[in-house]
Amino acid sequence: MEKICRAIKEDLQLFYDIPFDVKLKMEYQDPVFTISPYNELEELFEVKIYLRQRIRLIVEIEPQKYSASMMESINKADVGKRAVFLQYVELIRRKGAKIEFYINKQPRNVLDEQTWNEAWNSFRIRATQIIDEMTIDNLELELMIDWSRLAVGLLLSLLEIENKEEKQYFEGRVYQVTQNRYERNPVNRELCLSANGYSCKICGFNFEETYGEIGHEFIHVHHIEMVSSFGGEYCLDPVNDMIPVCPNCHAMLHRKTPPYMPEEIREIIKNMKMLGEES
Ligand SMILES: [Zn+2]
Ligand SMILES: [Zn+2]
Repeated sequence: MEKICRAIKEDLQLFYDIPFDVKLKMEYQDPVFTISPYNELEELFEVKIYLRQRIRLIVEIEPQKYSASMMESINKADVGKRAVFLQYVELIRRKGAKIEFYINKQPRNVLDEQTWNEAWNSFRIRATQIIDEMTIDNLELELMIDWSRLAVGLLLSLLEIENKEEKQYFEGRVYQVTQNRYERNPVNRELCLSANGYSCKICGFNFEETYGEIGHEFIHVHHIEMVSSFGGEYCLDPVNDMIPVCPNCHAMLHRKTPPYMPEEIREIIKNMKMLGEES
């Protein structure tokens, strides 16, 4: 259990680039993990993951003591941020979990526009999932990591998170890939990968299959830019507008501006294969 605690902490820090505190407590026979970001984000929010009798997983997200600025930022969340938040909700539901929202102490439906028109003064988000007891021994760590990422991502999607300029360069200037802000955003990344997996959507390459443990969950994400001639606000859909790609395919996508479409690179690979087979 202590091992799971450390693993969650390391995973979240790596994934969201924010330091987290993870505590483990036993309630009767059941473990409870408490996850909270610290430093500048001290006591903003807390995620609690309960595993009851090894069959019921409960995830609770609540604001903490110094959450005033966070509530303000939630109330200011624009249409784009809300769309990403709702994608997280959908993803959680697709995993077979039930998710409930209590806003200003009332049960609310987040799909209802009215819920967003009122100022949120307090909230509690609760997700529950029934787990197959037979599979839990192998899945415990994976399950906890998956849910801690989802819960943190869900909340961060509404907040202004500082994006450290993460530079991704390939060897040599020619292959330099400048990732756009959507691709660097860990909240979008988590949503995209949680839905699409870790294999390249263009060539199928999977790092773990080739490199073993060190390749676990290594992949780039690419934002498919639609012809951006339309004005107004752009609502990013990380599940459909972003795809996991290996660094090679990613570099090829960005060989022109605007980038190639994924189908075009797939087509090129197919044609090259056919040429190779003919000769
Ligand atoms: Zn690839
Ligand atoms: Zn890209």
